[in-house]
Amino acid sequence: MKKIEKSKIVIAIDGPSGGGKSTVSRLIAKRLGLSYIDTGAMYRAVALALNGADVDIENASELEEFCASMSVEYSESNIKVNGTDYTGSIRTEEAGLLASISSSKSCVRRALVEYQRGLAKEGALVMEGRDIGTVVLPDISLKFFLTASHEVRALRRHAERKGLEREAISEAMKKRDKTDSTRTDSPLVKAKDAVEIDTGALDINGVVSLILENIEQRSR
Ligand code: C5P
Repeated sequence: MKKIEKSKIVIAIDGPSGGGKSTVSRLIAKRLGLSYIDTGAMYRAVALALNGADVDIENASELEEFCASMSVEYSESNIKVNGTDYTGSIRTEEAGLLASISSSKSCVRRALVEYQRGLAKEGALVMEGRDIGTVVLPDISLKFFLTASHEVRALRRHAERKGLEREAISEAMKKRDKTDSTRTDSPLVKAKDAVEIDTGALDINGVVSLILENIEQRSR
């Protein structure tokens, strides 16, 4: 396998919701001194922007018009779409479900994939999402796919979203997983060359160590 140059390292971390991607990606980025790119935040913010602008996403020309003029600005602390800051409103189950619906639309994906590839040109980053290893950056070699059983993922999400019913979270998650993995454009699948990690039996530090060891081995 090709030796990996550490200073320009680009890491893709994909998988379904609740698989531990965000925490793990942030920690890996911190440990290796890399930027952290959360592509889910972009899909969530775009979904809220579409909702706020009252765009009928089933109306192809209306949606195309929105996508053609859409501007996205991502930083590790903020996400803006068309100049509006959505950082404070993206972490709700509703935003997740809305994102899952609008992210199945090709014009939304095209615009965000182009933006994400632009960010990746700089190198030195961890990019987290659903299609990073398969579509956004298919040619990179450091790809990880984090999974866990539905029960484990729903329990984790429930612990994060205090005050919400566990059953409601579990159902919302099932719905989102189904939409994400059955859409025609860039469905959630593991890239053939990604390392799959079942995070169910491991704690966060265990997952982080496994990934770091794997990267270390490949950069020797
Ligand atoms: O990762 P997160 O739960 O924040 O993602 C919200 C939604 O955005 C996902 O359910 C999925 O529909 C969409 N998404 C996507 N491709 C990505 C990242 C997120 O389709 N790369």
